[in-house]
Amino acid sequence: MKIIRFQTASGPEFGILEGETVYNAEGDYASGFRAGEPVRELSQITLLSPCQPTKIIAIGRNYAAHAAEHGDEVPSQPLIFLEPPSAVIGPGEPIVCPPQSAQVEHESELAVVIGRRAQRIAATDAWDHVLGYTCANDVTARDLQRSDGQWSRAKGFDTFAPMGPWIITDLDPANLTVTCRVNNQVKQQGSTSDMVFKIPQLIEYISAAMTLEPGDVILTGTPEGVGLIRPGDQVEVEVEGIGVLSNPVVAA
Ligand code: MG
Repeated sequence: MKIIRFQTASGPEFGILEGETVYNAEGDYASGFRAGEPVRELSQITLLSPCQPTKIIAIGRNYAAHAAEHGDEVPSQPLIFLEPPSAVIGPGEPIVCPPQSAQVEHESELAVVIGRRAQRIAATDAWDHVLGYTCANDVTARDLQRSDGQWSRAKGFDTFAPMGPWIITDLDPANLTVTCRVNNQVKQQGSTSDMVFKIPQLIEYISAAMTLEPGDVILTGTPEGVGLIRPGDQVEVEVEGIGVLSNPVVAA
């Protein structure tokens, strides 16, 4: 199932996309969504981020080859950090390069969307708490990540968490190709099979510390090949089995 959010005259609504037809979404994150009446065609709507997380938990250095490209060791347990919900944008919305940074970079990632609340969940039960998956770009001001000493500002600028274009619910995330293209040139291509810490371990580790709410998002880390994006660029994150998240890059 493809779960979307889209803009209507009365505000954002969830929908279910089947082919080119948008159906009303009945239900919610926790109970699951079902397709109701057909309401629109895909060509008639503006897609929004499919998630409205209360928090975004991101994983650092979860692909060994990416850790190595920055001269970092792979951590012995998951390296987690938080990103603000205010950074979230949807497909097609511009990534704004802030004047404080001279080095804004792309990070293509598989995003896990939580369905049922997760508090102290064992890895063996973790899948019961996953609604589905979407594509994410963990945009990073690399220079500020280095100079600040911690990552909140570098990862937290408005527009630095593009997500979409939809949530796919029935997908095995174990071995999916994750690609980033800038202006149609492939910059990153890795496989989720290379994640150091897998999704059930991540859910166990995170939910032992903080409750994961329905709609919360885990960014599972980026493969090697991160690099610059500049105003005028078009950056695409593609995750096999999900789709393509495309965003233009603009100056502030
Ligand atoms: Mg990242």
